[in-house]
Amino acid sequence: MLDQSNELAAWDRDHFFHPSTHMGTHARGESPTRIMAGGEGVTVWDNNGKKSIDAFAGLYCVNVGYGRQKIADAIAAQAMNLAYYHAYVGHGTEASITLAKMIIDRAPEGMSRVYFGLSGSDANETNIKLIWYYNNVLGRPEKKKIISRWRGYHGSGVMTGSLTGLDLFHNAFDLPRAPILHTEAPYYFRRANRSMSEGQFSQHCADKLEEMILAEGPETVAAFIGEPILGTGGIVPPPAGYWEKIQAVLKKYDVLLVADEVVTGFGRLGTMFGSEHYGIKPDLITIAKGLTSAYAPLSGVIVADKMWQVLVQGSDKLGSLGHGWTYSAHPICVAAGVANLELIDEMDLVTNARETGAYFRAELAKAVGGHKNVGDVRGDGMLAAVEFVSDKDDRVFFDASLKIGTQVATALAASGVIGRAMPQGDILGFAPPLCLTREEADTIVARTADAVNSVFASI
Ligand code: PLP
Repeated sequence: MLDQSNELAAWDRDHFFHPSTHMGTHARGESPTRIMAGGEGVTVWDNNGKKSIDAFAGLYCVNVGYGRQKIADAIAAQAMNLAYYHAYVGHGTEASITLAKMIIDRAPEGMSRVYFGLSGSDANETNIKLIWYYNNVLGRPEKKKIISRWRGYHGSGVMTGSLTGLDLFHNAFDLPRAPILHTEAPYYFRRANRSMSEGQFSQHCADKLEEMILAEGPETVAAFIGEPILGTGGIVPPPAGYWEKIQAVLKKYDVLLVADEVVTGFGRLGTMFGSEHYGIKPDLITIAKGLTSAYAPLSGVIVADKMWQVLVQGSDKLGSLGHGWTYSAHPICVAAGVANLELIDEMDLVTNARETGAYFRAELAKAVGGHKNVGDVRGDGMLAAVEFVSDKDDRVFFDASLKIGTQVATALAASGVIGRAMPQGDILGFAPPLCLTREEADTIVARTADAVNSVFASI
């Protein structure tokens, strides 16, 4: 719905440089300005009073749902008592220290320290620096290359945009930069050789990785980064055996593993971390989003003890770590984090993500899986995706210019449910708040079926 009469909408078009937005159509008023005004539970509303179920939890981040008093109170109390103090040279607050302890208590085995940042992108930037520092301290300065995956998403800075394996985030930005490389996406539905079983495809991905490491020289490859389940690249669970086979290759060539758990951390897959869910043993874990349920910007890097020991040797040799932001461990953000993690436990949201998530995915598959233009319905925990095809038997995809995914997401939004047209391919994604009920799941499913039917009836 265009709201061009409104003064705010005019200011928006004239002055607000939106992230991830078509700059031309937006500035010309050809695409909608939607001014969001409030939220409660899984529901948000705009300044025209239109209510929607937010079935993507913002950008898969408002995990506890909107309007939680406990987190708002913690933020207000911290702002009054001590709005800011830095964390340099050993400074902390009760909240920053408590949150670090709470994260380690919940993290997979072997993790020992948490570095705090503000966004998933800056946390991955920290990861890259820590990986390089680690290998310099170990006296192997040539071991610096980082292998990511096509369709991975790890941020949109210079280096993190390079880690990201999506064309949109590279085009005309002169990315990706060295020393970042990309290997095969673990995307079973889109595999080139359709006769492969899931297990064979996982082996193929591991073989491709090994080929790349050998071609580059194992002495030059420092790390591999991956999301436990591909997120922005299409919400794609790993094929059977994938992580086991990938980790065997990494171990063989002494390559560090970064699990980017910005989406999966703190319950989204029905386990506290995705690493636990898929048997991943990372050296570094990236966290953000669900850490505060986005009530305040906060990210982190969880460092395994094995790496931490080398970092300590580094500062004994080289002096203090030359890395940090003014807002690292910002008191207001970490206070939000403590209240948020407590709320996740109190509301038993990890269990709900597992149980209601499974119900939601099963109902979605029942409702749209049989449609002739639905090629795949997939997901895990409280994450789901529907991928559209023009021919199901031959797995033929639509021409990107038709924007089928966007058309379905737009029809769905008109009916009061927000899903997300994923940026590459015709994929409708869902990542509802972890507090979703079965009734709310039923509403999302019914309206999705209507949106799918109406869009394909008109093509
Ligand atoms: N890593 C993953 C897996 C993400 O999904 C995202 C954002 O969606 C990021 C990193 C980047 O986080 P941010 O947008 O907070 O910089």
